[in-house]
Amino acid sequence: MEAVGYAAVNRKALLLFLFLPLATMARLASAAPHTMRLDYYHTGNASEERFSLDRVVLEPLEWPGQPERALDDTNLGKYFFEVVDRKTNRVLYSRGFASIYGEWETTGEAKEIHRTFHESLRFPAPPDPVQIVLKKRDAKNAFREIWTALVEPKGMFVDPSPPESPGPLLAIQKSGEPSEKVDFLILGDGYTVSERSKFEKDARRLAEILFSYVPFKERRADFNVWGLCPPSAESGISRPSTGIHRRSRVGATYDAFGSERYVLTFENRAFREVASFAPYEFVEILTNTRTYGGGGIFGLYSTVAADSLWSPYVFVHEFGHHFAGLADEYYTSDVAYEPAAGRVEPWEWNVTALLDPAQLKWKDLVAPGTPIPTPWPKEAFEKQAKEIQARRRKIRAENRPEEEMDALFKEQRVLETKLLATGPHAGRVGAFEGAMYEARGYFRPQVDCVMFTRDEVPFCAVCRRALARVMDLYAGGSGSHGSSAKPSAVKSASSPKTAAAEPSRAVTAPTQSAKESARSE
Ligand SMILES: [Zn+2]
Repeated sequence: MEAVGYAAVNRKALLLFLFLPLATMARLASAAPHTMRLDYYHTGNASEERFSLDRVVLEPLEWPGQPERALDDTNLGKYFFEVVDRKTNRVLYSRGFASIYGEWETTGEAKEIHRTFHESLRFPAPPDPVQIVLKKRDAKNAFREIWTALVEPKGMFVDPSPPESPGPLLAIQKSGEPSEKVDFLILGDGYTVSERSKFEKDARRLAEILFSYVPFKERRADFNVWGLCPPSAESGISRPSTGIHRRSRVGATYDAFGSERYVLTFENRAFREVASFAPYEFVEILTNTRTYGGGGIFGLYSTVAADSLWSPYVFVHEFGHHFAGLADEYYTSDVAYEPAAGRVEPWEWNVTALLDPAQLKWKDLVAPGTPIPTPWPKEAFEKQAKEIQARRRKIRAENRPEEEMDALFKEQRVLETKLLATGPHAGRVGAFEGAMYEARGYFRPQVDCVMFTRDEVPFCAVCRRALARVMDLYAGGSGSHGSSAKPSAVKSASSPKTAAAEPSRAVTAPTQSAKESARSE
């Protein structure tokens, strides 16, 4: 069968040529390929999983990535996929990522029932048949192949038809061609037609917040920021724990995995169809809601409740998960939790199991003489956190007004900011025990960080370096600092106030059960 997709695209291109100036024609002649998307179902339970093909589509827009950075050498993500040319066996494109399934399989529910999640892999449309190879980390964190699918890009079932338009594309910040920039899409959900101007205001406000944080601040020109807001019939999104159900266009909902503040959409097809109208590599979904909440999954999307008092903090924190696979540095439980025998080093760059202190993965950022592990007021912190958590659960259990939660978080922020500033190694890089939902056995790089509390602090030096390295993968060409951002990272590590415009942030306190609340704060 001849290329259904390509034929349609080429015809359109020919028509365009008739009306375009020469320079534009030259650019089109060497135009980037379109974005191809493979949709599939990921089904299983805690002990087995299965993949099945849904369909292959040609998205409406060109591939927004840098052709010369097609291969992902960051070693981030629980999963990794490769696009392999059938004829030459050459890897044309690869990326690491994480998924909702990957989190769900570690919850209690996965021990009880099977579930299915819809997922997508996006890559530049290849000219010839390719093999898609999907890998997942094993118990020792080594990637193993778990699924493969053949894609015939010129096959008749490759669907090039555009989905329903989500409305006009908003250019919040255009710094250059998508292929040369990080393309960040802010997607509104739960906004009605008449609330579109509110979405624009929310999106611009939160984008400014992100760019007030190092390293986004000095790399701002490496980003394009786009906005899309498909109108919802009703204002707001679903919150099943309080009986609220909405058919919003992107499908975002509170109570993901039963965690009241965890906001995700499980409607991947709807999400992808809306997003395909923007050039994008990263997405944050703004929900038109007031109740505290959010979520972030590496390479998928992040979410935030736009009207929460804490939206500036949550927006940035969740983007850290989504953009660079940063782990939560927080933990709630003060119960002794001994490291499991055979615990492996996490793949995330900002946490360590410290199996070999001499090989600490961020040791180049540690000042000589800093003890490893690094002492900090851990017991006092846990005592405070435990008390705050109990009050937090009570507020939600009794469905108290959101103002009460805001007041509690403010109180917590004051307490924790003060306490964390007192330790002998405050502001320095070391290995501080307590991270990734566990009080024992995981360590974070600094005593405080955007990934640890809602305190008014910057990303720690290790998180800053991780974020800059991912920026290099998408916008390495212009004014990149990349891993050479190290010196400035260390310097600003000791100044706790990075973001002048930083509004309120409160404390942490993660939550009930670790895995179930994963990534939700
Ligand atoms: Zn950090």
